Amino acid sequence: MNFCTHCGARVELRTPTGDHLPRHVCAACGTVHYQNPRLVVGCVPEHAGRILLCRRAIEPRRGFWTVPAGFMENGETLQQAAARESYEEALARVEIGSLLSIVHVLHAHQVHVFFRALLPVAEFAPGPESLEVELFDAHDIPWGDIAFPSTDFTLRRYLEDRAAGREPHHFTAVSRRVTGPAADEAQA
Ligand SMILES: [Zn+2]
Repeated sequence: MNFCTHCGARVELRTPTGDHLPRHVCAACGTVHYQNPRLVVGCVPEHAGRILLCRRAIEPRRGFWTVPAGFMENGETLQQAAARESYEEALARVEIGSLLSIVHVLHAHQVHVFFRALLPVAEFAPGPESLEVELFDAHDIPWGDIAFPSTDFTLRRYLEDRAAGREPHHFTAVSRRVTGPAADEAQA
């Protein structure tokens, strides 16, 4: 960041008194512009044993498959965000279930949160951010074409838990740049 969003003056990078990290601080009005991780929220929708995946129409990772997920908005709960993203990306009306996974994507400054979900009626279609939307049997999931490490982790835990008849939640952290220059910027 170069300019203060409050007054428009140039910001400088320095550690404010009493703080422990460098921040963008406005020399004119004194505003400290904190930068914190962003939440990406999604779900694994299931219908009659099959899992709903979307093939991305946008970068990063255009053409690769993922579960419905996206940036959380102000004023909504995690579950509302997950349901909204399912509708926006797959025109799918899902019922959000239990917490499935939390993935700390350290290099992208994001935290990804995924829920289990039920798709009661098999009605779906590509939203503007998807090329196609499809239900997959577990053994047909295109593992080689999954968009993000957080998606891969989440789908694998989902299937393991389902096979074991349990619904715990899982934590992991990703810090590597795995898939090329475009892949680690953001997940929308
Ligand atoms: Zn300012």
